[in-house]
Formats: sequence, structure tokens, C-alpha cells
Amino acid sequence: MRIILLGAPGSGKGTQGDLLEKRTGFPRISTGDLLRLAVRRKTPLGLRAEAFMVQGLLVSDEVVEGLVRERIAEADCRVGYILDGFPRTIAQAEALAAMDGGRPEIVIGIEVDSEILIERLCGRRVCPACQAVYNVSVQSPARPGVCDACGRGLVQRPDDTAEVIRKRIAVYLEQTAPLKDYYRRKNEFRAVDGQGPTEEIAAAIARILDGTPAGTTAETAEDGRKDRRSPA
Ligand code: AMP
Repeated sequence: MRIILLGAPGSGKGTQGDLLEKRTGFPRISTGDLLRLAVRRKTPLGLRAEAFMVQGLLVSDEVVEGLVRERIAEADCRVGYILDGFPRTIAQAEALAAMDGGRPEIVIGIEVDSEILIERLCGRRVCPACQAVYNVSVQSPARPGVCDACGRGLVQRPDDTAEVIRKRIAVYLEQTAPLKDYYRRKNEFRAVDGQGPTEEIAAAIARILDGTPAGTTAETAEDGRKDRRSPA
């Protein structure tokens, strides 16, 4: 089994991926995390990737595909795994199918409006030591600017500045959003509204994975979100 979380930066893929990891026992594989680790370790790959990441651009397909190929070959991925942030291009999706085809897969699209993404990402703070993620307005630490888990001072990711965030969203719309149609054509795409409380979104994802109940399809989930945005 393979669960692919598809969504714009700030849509909540990491949060939902963590919850799914606990629920399913499948490891969450975040290509962003793998790349940031390589950057911190100053590996040759990390040094090359960093220049793209700080500008909000995608790292080359070959580099990211190599990371994923190595990671999914590990023993803990044998039964299943969760992909967060990969694939991000059609070429990556095709590479994934070629490197690990035949595995049942479901693609969960987490849908969030652009203005909300910008707000969330501008407020995101991370712990440089344990990588815990906070948000200054909706998920703030007990002591402002200090990690609850390990006491280190929180920082902003270098690609969470307003200018780079806008670039990342534009890159998502141009290069990653077409994957929705790609997976719709394979009948593997389901959308959830990513704007409610975390637990509600997790419950919607759980319903999809447990077998979609009557009346809830990819398209109705998206329609529901649109309806809720309309003035009453
Ligand atoms: P994320 O943490 O998923 O937002 O990723 C942070 C950055 O890592 C992105 O803006 C890209 O520069 C890079 N990155 C992560 N995943 C990929 C991918 N699948 N393909 C290309 N670049 C990626």
C-alpha cells in the first residue's frame, strides 16, 4: 500500500502524514525533510539542493527520485509507506510508478485556499534541534519562541518568507497541481477539505482509507469546500 499526500505548501501534509503514520504504522517519507537533512549535513547533494530550496524552486527530479528510491527500499517500507511532498511533477509520478509499480496506491489531495496557505506559512516556526513545528497564531508553544519539546529557540524556515512562499505556491500550481488530473485519470485521487480542525481532516482521510462511504467522492468533498466558502 502507498498513500500519497498531495497538496500545496502549508496545506497540512506533514501534520496529517504524522497522524497517518501513527494510525497505519507506515513510515511517512517527506522529501522536504530528507532534503533539509542533507542540507544540514552539508552533503554534496544537500549543497546542490539548498540553492533551489531557498528560492522556492523544485530540486531536480533525478535527485529527489534517487532519495525516494533509496528510502522505499528500506525494510520498514515493505508493507506500506506514506509519501509527503513526492511526487511533485508528472515525471516524478512516472518514475515512482516505474520504481515501485504494482503496489496499490491512493492519493489524498488536501485542498486549502492560497490566502490561508500564505498566512499559515508566514506564521510557521520550527525547532532547529528536534524539528517540531509550531504556528505563532494557531499552534503556539507554551513559551513564545521556545520549543515545548526541547527548549531550543524556534526559527523560521528560510523558505517561509513572504516572497519565497508566493514562489512556492506558484510552482505548486504550475508543476504539481496537474498531478490531480493525472491521478484522477487512474481513479486514485480523493480530495479532502484541508481548512477545518486537524482532527476533522484526519477523520475525513481515515474515512477515505477505510472505504469511501456512499455519497462522499473526490468531487463532492471539493464541492463541499466550495459551498462552505460561499456566503450563507
Ligand atoms: P517541503 O518541505 O515539502 O515544502 O519541501 C521544501 C522544498 O524542498 C521544496 O520547496 C523544494 O525545493 C524541495 N522539494 C521537496 N520535495 C521535492 C520534490 N518532490 N521535488 C523537487 N523538490 C522538492
